[in-house]
Amino acid sequence: MQNSSQKIKELVDQAQAIVITSHKSPDGDSIGSSLGLYHILKSWGKNVQVVHPDPAPEFLHWVSGQDQISDFETKSEQASEALLSADLIFCLDYNEPSRVGDAMQAVLVASSANKVMIDHHLHPADFCQVVISETSACSTCELVYKWLKEINRLDDLTETSGACIYLGIMTDTGSFRFPSVSADTHEIIADLIRRGVKHYLIHESVYDTNTVDRIKLRGYALSEKLVCLNDIHVAYASLSEAELKKYNYQKGDTEGLVNQILGIQGIKMAVLFVEKDGKVKISFRAKGDYFVNELAKTHFEGGGHAYASGGISTENLEKTVEKFVTFVKDFIPKA
Ligand code: 5GP
Ligand code: MN
Repeated sequence: MQNSSQKIKELVDQAQAIVITSHKSPDGDSIGSSLGLYHILKSWGKNVQVVHPDPAPEFLHWVSGQDQISDFETKSEQASEALLSADLIFCLDYNEPSRVGDAMQAVLVASSANKVMIDHHLHPADFCQVVISETSACSTCELVYKWLKEINRLDDLTETSGACIYLGIMTDTGSFRFPSVSADTHEIIADLIRRGVKHYLIHESVYDTNTVDRIKLRGYALSEKLVCLNDIHVAYASLSEAELKKYNYQKGDTEGLVNQILGIQGIKMAVLFVEKDGKVKISFRAKGDYFVNELAKTHFEGGGHAYASGGISTENLEKTVEKFVTFVKDFIPKA
């Protein structure tokens, strides 16, 4: 990491126009790492913009700088222009260009800028000149922090940029509980709090801002749509577009629901199928000796981490679930 860290610092020093990108369907880590780095580079006097494939869900709108993000869905011209005129592009929290979606991928690949990847997903693709890829890291935010430490610039972290880093670590670790959390992670958190980060406000902003519709949608999914395949320790729920509409679905309303399903006693794999725009978005979670990334990759055009993956299906909801029930048996440990 040391070598790459210095190279990245040199690229930043030479750059005239920097763009920070991250993956589709923003989460705490993609927003946190993008905006944390954005605030740092701004404080260094750099010309920097953040370009994301699509807008952030409402529970992340409070993050400082979020109104500065140009997204490809609502500001495609501005976003394209920024990518094409950049001389340095950061690719944060994704491991292959397809993770930014078709429209943005075409422009990202066409851009002649130097590209830097900072990421913690398995199997990084070869599309960046400098890569920090640590699959054991709990989050990309942790890696951004470690990059600052390597280049001796930790003191540039402020309460504002520190809050962004805290956000990504908190959300990608399920609030500091997954196996990916290390002693280093807690030391980083302690340092962020010493730098003035108000951890309680971040937890509150992310987790205690449910709308009544969101709570009811989640209650409905868990009480009416949950299926437990107890013999193989798998549980899943599915939500159709019509069901989402009934509860006035807003982006982010099903965030974390799959983790609640994984919280059922005896369940080692949880899956949530959500029908959106004629496709089915699938979230996979696992624990213990169950893993989900190969299943997501083999049958659902996806991937991710061993214990948290995602994928997509273009078949209808019913067929997608049927397909999952057929294939899941090949991806559970043999007794
Ligand atoms: P989520 O279920 O929260 O949408 O995604 C969980 C994890 O799976 C993400 O952190 C990401 O690593 C991965 N992931 C989600 N969707 C996709 C996808 O469509 N393709 C790939 N390769 N990974 C995904
Ligand atoms: Mn992440």
